Amino acid sequence: MKLIFIGNDFKYEAEGVMKLFIPAQRFEMHYEDISQAQGDYALIERKSEGGKAKLRVKCSLNGREQEFCESVGEDTPDYEDECEMSLCRLLYKAMSALTGKEPEWGIITGIRPVKRVNLLLSQGMSEGEIREHMRSRYLCSDKKTEIALRTAHAQEKLLQSLDKKSFGLYVSIPFCPTRCSYCSFVSQSIEGCAKMIPEYVRQLCEEIEYTAKLCKRTGIYPDSVYFGGGTPTTLSASQLEAVMGRIEKSFDLSRIREYTVEAGRPDTVTREKLQTIKRMGAGRVSINPQSINDEVLRAIGRKHTAAQFFEAFELAKSVGFDVINTDIIAGLPEDTPESFKNTVDRLIELDADNITVHTLSIKRAARLNHEGTDNALKSPAAQMVDYATARLSESGYEPYYLYRQKNMSDNQENIGWAKKGKESLYNIYIMEEVQTIIAVGAGGSTKLVDLDNKRLERVFNYKYPVEYLRGFDEMIRRKSEIEDFYEEK
Ligand code: SF4
Repeated sequence: MKLIFIGNDFKYEAEGVMKLFIPAQRFEMHYEDISQAQGDYALIERKSEGGKAKLRVKCSLNGREQEFCESVGEDTPDYEDECEMSLCRLLYKAMSALTGKEPEWGIITGIRPVKRVNLLLSQGMSEGEIREHMRSRYLCSDKKTEIALRTAHAQEKLLQSLDKKSFGLYVSIPFCPTRCSYCSFVSQSIEGCAKMIPEYVRQLCEEIEYTAKLCKRTGIYPDSVYFGGGTPTTLSASQLEAVMGRIEKSFDLSRIREYTVEAGRPDTVTREKLQTIKRMGAGRVSINPQSINDEVLRAIGRKHTAAQFFEAFELAKSVGFDVINTDIIAGLPEDTPESFKNTVDRLIELDADNITVHTLSIKRAARLNHEGTDNALKSPAAQMVDYATARLSESGYEPYYLYRQKNMSDNQENIGWAKKGKESLYNIYIMEEVQTIIAVGAGGSTKLVDLDNKRLERVFNYKYPVEYLRGFDEMIRRKSEIEDFYEEK
């Protein structure tokens, strides 16, 4: 489909809105060339006339056309932004009329809608004003604004309790037993790289020690530790002990408020590993079924069964963790609304403290995409998410962090639900971009945050374990940017 821009270049924003309606499309971009307005196209036009920008969007799809217009005074504050927003709304209305779809987040295509709501609350807007603002400016449905507001309220106190000198320590273990078909992380299946793990653990310990010294010099301290990946429990109990032990030895953990290890795949969980994790200081683990339907698990390439998930969950309970998180995904291939409902109901019955409901996002790197299936795009994810929202709300869970990704099934979102007091600080702080995250390990990305001066910088580790092992010196060099960042403050 062609996108034709006249008098503007809001390419990125327009493409984002178009993808809400026709996600699998490729768009051809044309500028100042109205002769391209043939076949399927969207014409996005701004003309200046009598001190006003005359904005027009005309869309043609499968022989049907829709056209909408508006104008914006050239003396309007933030004129460019206003034109862009207006054109996006016109485009949304035209495409909605042509496709019959009404994406519930409106023209919000960014990944952090709650950050927007938090900002409006901090400006003193009432809930009623925020609802109206989200409706008229972003065409966001009341239902989605409601969930964003609930999430913002759940975060309020936890955001206030943040110390600017603290940071979250992220430890990346980029290995998994097998690769799930929807995965687009850098994680490697251990079939191919088991030999590399001992060397990886050794080098990770060195990086931890170096990073801890650097953090001490800058005067920052960790208030949370988060082991993710990958599947950290792909490591053996002794390897986990080595890494966790090095963290304890190198960092000052006296002000730690939260320590999490993602056990992730139930097929990697053993009593010995869980006991080691607990003994070494973690109070929280994630055991993630994604679905408790064995057919779905097979279809997405997870080599474990629902029964193995229940066993791992009970094991974690018996070891005595403070919080057990479980992740599930709406919109998986072969899943149905009935089977998804069953997954939600069973997790609530299990009394999981924290249930994260993801919506499948088909990223380019995912094997699912390479295999050419569009099942996920056809899946009734919105219906599933609605069910989870209703059931979790009535069962004492509150949404506490929320984010969106590109190309999510039915334009939904990911939401972390928790019982009161069981929220994950790390998840909130990383999502709202209010705290520095120091990452160690392959694929880790350090995010340096200075809220006072509105600065945000990233330092990337090498993505893949092989590069990580080869390029260690360079990576350590990059880490020195942490010190530079804090010196400039
Ligand atoms: S467990 Fe997670 S990181 Fe590992 S392959 Fe599956 S989706 Fe990817």
